[in-house]
Amino acid sequence: MVASIKPHRDETGLTDGLLLIDGTWGPSADERSWTHNHPATGEDVASFPIAGPHDVDRAVRAARAAFDEGPWPRTRAGERGKLLRRIADLVREHGDELLALQALDNSVPLTFGGVYGMSYGFVADVFDHHAGWVDKLAGETLPPFQGGDHMVMTLREPVGVVAAIVPWNAPLLLTAQKLAPALAAGCTIVVKPSEYATFSVLRLVALIEEAGLPAGVINVVTGPGDPTGDALIHHPMVDKVSFTGSRAVGRKIIEASAGTFKRVSLELGGKSPALVFADADVATSAMMTMGTVTLGLSGQVCLAQTRALVHRDAVDEFLGTSEMIAGMVSYGNPFDPAVSSSPLINPRQLDRVLGLIGKGQEEGARLVFGGTRGEGDLAAGNFVAPTLFTDVNNDMAIAREEVFGPVLSVIPFTDEDEAIKIANATEYGLAATVWTSDLKRAMRMTKALRAGTVGINGYQLEPHAAFGGYRQSGIGREGGRTAIEAYTEVKTVLLPFTDEMM
Ligand code: NAD
Repeated sequence: MVASIKPHRDETGLTDGLLLIDGTWGPSADERSWTHNHPATGEDVASFPIAGPHDVDRAVRAARAAFDEGPWPRTRAGERGKLLRRIADLVREHGDELLALQALDNSVPLTFGGVYGMSYGFVADVFDHHAGWVDKLAGETLPPFQGGDHMVMTLREPVGVVAAIVPWNAPLLLTAQKLAPALAAGCTIVVKPSEYATFSVLRLVALIEEAGLPAGVINVVTGPGDPTGDALIHHPMVDKVSFTGSRAVGRKIIEASAGTFKRVSLELGGKSPALVFADADVATSAMMTMGTVTLGLSGQVCLAQTRALVHRDAVDEFLGTSEMIAGMVSYGNPFDPAVSSSPLINPRQLDRVLGLIGKGQEEGARLVFGGTRGEGDLAAGNFVAPTLFTDVNNDMAIAREEVFGPVLSVIPFTDEDEAIKIANATEYGLAATVWTSDLKRAMRMTKALRAGTVGINGYQLEPHAAFGGYRQSGIGREGGRTAIEAYTEVKTVLLPFTDEMM
């Protein structure tokens, strides 16, 4: 059995879950609670309140009042920037604690915090990056269309009350990607963490509050989609919903937004391709692709390149290196420095992934290795072994559906046209990589790919670059100018110098 996770919970000093509403931490009105079972052991780690419609209403009204009457949207840009930088400093100061809480939440190993995209340094950099935007949210000055003595200009103003709804796989990073631009723009917020990753988000919010935000600017409601998330997305006083999660819930958010025409940003799933040409460093491409699908989060990564489109001449080498990487993946207690990957988040996801693996075999893909769940010491957790299929056809379920587990599908191709056709034959469009030593080919492929981010011979998250999806991978971007502008409204101002408009 994996050593108990519980002592680590005690080290964090967390009291059982609380809601933050209008600057005060308190219980839920109806006293229902959610018990979090750790994915590596199944043991009950701790519980937190399930916020019902009454709690959500109080939180939204607090955010509304803080926006309509409070100082935050009216605070000078320089002051807002300083506060965001203070948050970044607090995140760095409490980084180890935040990563420990994240490991309690979703079992992502502490060692994975050494990877930039999963580090507390990245989370802090997101706040620093947005601190730099506060004094650059500029409008435009336009010449009068038909001439005359007046000026036409645009202003960017905060959109209002933001509901930030986040998933469980990278709770710290994904929460920061919403809160930093919202705060930088002058919005007020109600955050709803995932019921599978609440503790790290509560601590991050507590640090944000500690940085000195006025009461009501940031509020937290904990609980699952039903009732907590549902009450939030339907609340008429919410101006914008910023959501990261599944397509299914993304659709519900679009439907719910229709009531009051809420602004919506959606960061959804992916079925991203890696295009590996025979002239590439094939071993490195396999190392990186298999690594992203198995190490750290066990493939529970939206941008993971889970379809490896490999030139027929390179397939054998790709499979050989992938097998070697899979052999290096180690599972267990996330606090153990020897552990490099995680279990699946819950038994439901475990069943789903095992079901898709079975379907892959039924549909005629060749299982090269893996496909089994953890046994012996790992049996109490939701572990699945690194799994590789080859001879996959792009119409099979394992090539079409987001598996969200450690499963890589190798699809052989013959030439560029075929590779692009397969790569783009998906409902998603989040990310892609191109592996080749031919720069012209790399650019041809990059231009032809329908994806929000393309990595050439590598992939890394960048806090200042736009990240998001084409097609059903989402609406909008996080990071950079596009992201922060999505937390603003544009107001046109007409200023006459004479009486011409009277
Ligand atoms: P999910 O959609 O089940 O849940 C996401 C959040 O929505 C959670 O907080 C959940 O409680 C809440 N929710 C559920 N039902 C709701 C409802 N009816 N109303 C309002 N809120 C509701 O997703 P998940 O399982 O937590 O996360 C995995 C998914 O997230 C995958 O599809 C993955 O690709 C995607 N993801 C995308 C990105 C990205 O940046 N594009 C990043 C990480 C994860």
